[in-house]
Amino acid sequence: MGPTNIALVQLYQADMALRAAQGRLEAATKNVRIQERRVRDLEQKHSGQLQALKEQQTQAAQLELDIKTRDARIERLRGQQQAAKNNKEYQAFLIEINTEKVDRSKAEEQALKIMEQVERGLVEVKELATHMEGEKVKSQTMKDQMGDTVAALQAEIDGLRPARDAAAAAVSPKALMAFERLADRFEGEAMSALSKPDRRREEYVCTACMMDLVTDVYNKLHARDELIFCPSCHRILYIPDELPPEAAVNKKKPPREKPAGDVPAATTRRQESAADVLKSMTPDEPEDGEKSEQGHG
Ligand SMILES: [Zn+2]
Repeated sequence: MGPTNIALVQLYQADMALRAAQGRLEAATKNVRIQERRVRDLEQKHSGQLQALKEQQTQAAQLELDIKTRDARIERLRGQQQAAKNNKEYQAFLIEINTEKVDRSKAEEQALKIMEQVERGLVEVKELATHMEGEKVKSQTMKDQMGDTVAALQAEIDGLRPARDAAAAAVSPKALMAFERLADRFEGEAMSALSKPDRRREEYVCTACMMDLVTDVYNKLHARDELIFCPSCHRILYIPDELPPEAAVNKKKPPREKPAGDVPAATTRRQESAADVLKSMTPDEPEDGEKSEQGHG
């Protein structure tokens, strides 16, 4: 492969190693994070309850004030009623007093209802606060216990990052951009190795999506320095170490005039196998032939 693809494969490997270490840290701290979220949810619920309680208390205070105001008005009307000059005036004050009394009892009823709500709310808030404190302690205990593991995993990540950064620096900006985009999309799996499923056939597949690839993909990757994307999954294709040209390129059709070295070995092998076949057939053939000839004769 060309330098660009070699640098990309190095980046890919360093990136995957870093991602794997990050994944281990995430897996190890998963329960702690779940616990932290539980605490956050409880805190949110608690502050919501406090807020509701505050509003109810404000409402209750307003109703108390309303009742007091009406009491004072009723008192004043009673005084005016006592000083009424005639029965008609007296009756008018009476109606006004009764109206105030009806409104006052309505307000009182409402205030009682809200005070009940406030009392219930206070108990609930207290219970929730206790529960929340318990979960907070649990969360801290988990974090304390995880401390060493997290530190070790974090150290591993910190140790892998420079190699990843160096590998990224060795890739051209354009190729790096393509790589990063694909890595984001495929959780790091930006590249895909070629594979040759059948040793005897010069056919290649993308190992990520198992899509068949055109035959010259190997030669292109081997000989040129350009990015080749899988037409199906769009990952950047590369030649893995286990697929060197001697394993990848078909030798079925021996070139007409190839320099010595390669051809004789293949020829010998073929001759050997041909001889084996002959050997295995020779003992039977003459007998069969004789028999059949005898039969005919
Ligand atoms: Zn693919």
